[in-house]
Amino acid sequence: MHKLLILFLFPIVFCQAQQDIYPQDYFRDPLDIPLLLAGTFGELRSNHFHSGIDIKTQQREGLKVYAIADGFVSRIKISHYGYGKALYITHPNGYTSVYAHLQRFSPEIEAYVKNIQYEKETYEIEVFPTAIAIQIKKGDIVAYSGNTGSSGGPHLHFEIRDNEERPINPMYFGIDIKDTTKPYISQIYAYPVTDSAHVNRSNEKQKLRLIALKNGDYTAENIEAFGKIGFGIETNDRQDYTSNKNGVASIQTFFNGNSSFEIDFKRFSFDETNHLNRLIDYEHYITNKERIQKLFVEENNPLSMYKNLNDNGYLSILDSTNSVYKIRVKDFKNNDAWITLNIAGKKQDTIKPKRVPKTEHYLYANQDTKLSSKNVSVNIPRNTFYDDFYIDFKVKNDTLTLHDNTIPANKYFKIDYDISHYNNPDRDKLYIARLVGYYKYPVYSKTYKSENSLSTSTKYLGTYALVSDTTAPIIKPKNFTDGKWLSNYHFLKIVIDDKESGISNYRATINGQWILMEYEYKTKTLTYNFNDKILNETKNNLKLIVTDNVGNSSTFEATFYRK
Ligand SMILES: [Zn+2]
Repeated sequence: MHKLLILFLFPIVFCQAQQDIYPQDYFRDPLDIPLLLAGTFGELRSNHFHSGIDIKTQQREGLKVYAIADGFVSRIKISHYGYGKALYITHPNGYTSVYAHLQRFSPEIEAYVKNIQYEKETYEIEVFPTAIAIQIKKGDIVAYSGNTGSSGGPHLHFEIRDNEERPINPMYFGIDIKDTTKPYISQIYAYPVTDSAHVNRSNEKQKLRLIALKNGDYTAENIEAFGKIGFGIETNDRQDYTSNKNGVASIQTFFNGNSSFEIDFKRFSFDETNHLNRLIDYEHYITNKERIQKLFVEENNPLSMYKNLNDNGYLSILDSTNSVYKIRVKDFKNNDAWITLNIAGKKQDTIKPKRVPKTEHYLYANQDTKLSSKNVSVNIPRNTFYDDFYIDFKVKNDTLTLHDNTIPANKYFKIDYDISHYNNPDRDKLYIARLVGYYKYPVYSKTYKSENSLSTSTKYLGTYALVSDTTAPIIKPKNFTDGKWLSNYHFLKIVIDDKESGISNYRATINGQWILMEYEYKTKTLTYNFNDKILNETKNNLKLIVTDNVGNSSTFEATFYRK
């Protein structure tokens, strides 16, 4: 028996690093339907890597969510955005499972949560119950799936984290998702790196033609190149029975048969997730909405997912040489797709230069930068940006042009506006907006006021302006009218909206007592559940105050009867 065990374990230990062995039969599935994924682990999202798997819930809410193992509820977080209603269960083996975008919790947890919400008089909460407060058995129904928070449709976002809060791909714990097809590769680009490097006689990045082969692999057009170059690809994977474009598990490259680069989306830490913008060609993403992953590691790239790097994935192409470059993309079931590309080394005397727009201001990434005009100043701490660049800084009246959003920041920087030339009452209504899109639509940027100035912290370059919001929020009852009997109603629903700076807070009472109204930003709806409180009165007065981000507020009052 012992000999058998050793024989069985030895090859696994030998082939993989110790930390890569995860328990295989410890956890059950969080849902009792066949698991299909709308999103995979490590998938590229906006400013972050996806930290779990998105399990499809048949376009429905309210599916039973099961605890994947024994444990205790270690954290409950409810927020308007992000994960919405989220539950964290810590297991005796050190891992924590996370269930997010929930519609509601099990009755026991729901009662625990509502107690805290009523005590703190807020819908948004975050609590860390002790290990004895809410104990859980494997297979307990702990919640019901939903669509709360920043969720684009009903699904369960599910994570497994290790004891250092690092999310790990749940598929390494034995969750089985059927996948029999190779990843597909939709684009490939070549990047000349140094000023003298060139691809097809140009120092600019080059889009290369991809030829799909019958077996699911690819060749790319042959190129002529010289000097230090790198490549980037756009790739996705599909699992069986779904059409969702999901992320891949790993990408490797080989230069003349030698390993050159590898990225493996097995585990990461939340501290590094923002550096996704260093992995992708950010400017290309902003301009074309396509995520090209760079298969080389530039300086100031702290991502932990790289391995087997040879010269950081860069190739040095010499004159009069012939080389073969191969890219291998794998999914979580080890289906792999290859690109093969022939590179002829050929030094050219004249090449098309890279276009670098020059401005008056140069930003050194490793130094603090202060840019200022008469009424606007921008303070950028050192190491906010990855690279040095010519930064565009112009101020016209109250409009600040701070470059454009084609260079990613990995930290917040500060913008200050002097508003001493504004008179009251106008200045009370001002906020800082980022102007986005073709029509320069103003989006509220969290604005802090002091006596003569407004300030905001942001991670986005682009255009900013001072905007005035003089309109109070709109409040409209959705499922009732004033003065009616509502005895058969389970819920009160009210729509709230603010067209300009946006809603900052809301407060609802019945007969002067605070009531919990759950806010869903996607439907702009506040919902009160009559099960929360027994109303003693027949005649009830509902009062709701909604305030926007500059402090304009609206009050709604209604009377209803209930027996
Ligand atoms: Zn998700």
